[in-house]
Amino acid sequence: MGLSDIIATSIFQIVKTLRLTRIFSIFGSKHGFSDYFKGMEKVQAVRDTFGERTDEVLNNLKVELTWVGGYMWVNNIDGRLMVSAKYLNSGDRLDVYLDLIHELVHVKQFMDGKELFDIHYSYTDRPTELEAYAAAVKEARRLGLSDKRICLYLKTEWMSDKDLRRLARTLNVSCDQ
Ligand SMILES: [Zn+2]
Repeated sequence: MGLSDIIATSIFQIVKTLRLTRIFSIFGSKHGFSDYFKGMEKVQAVRDTFGERTDEVLNNLKVELTWVGGYMWVNNIDGRLMVSAKYLNSGDRLDVYLDLIHELVHVKQFMDGKELFDIHYSYTDRPTELEAYAAAVKEARRLGLSDKRICLYLKTEWMSDKDLRRLARTLNVSCDQ
């Protein structure tokens, strides 16, 4: 299943549905990942993460929309996926898609009992982050994205240019142009 299929059939539909329905009614309640992001279970990158348990994990994974926080992250108490409603509504859909690949790696790490927010490492050196970024970059490469576009994806407002370049180097992405 290609990116265009995923985006056309899942994220776009979801966002459209959310806009049409009363978005407030679902805040605070937790819905299943498969309710929001249909088709992700067919993505090879996701199947690489969870293997035979992919469908089971995605069916049981809770998602919570929130107004706080910029993008998405995994709650390190119960492993649910937190997603900024604003980001889901207005974020670049390719970035949202790659973030889902990234966050699902964190879901797997959480299932394996790993510490997701190990303060002994800075963000761009943390092994759990590098593993998640590597999966997203691998998927970006498969989709044919340029290094320039991948750099744009990697860049966040809390990351210094120096950190960005180091992260990119670790991931074999060229951010120097
Ligand atoms: Zn992460």
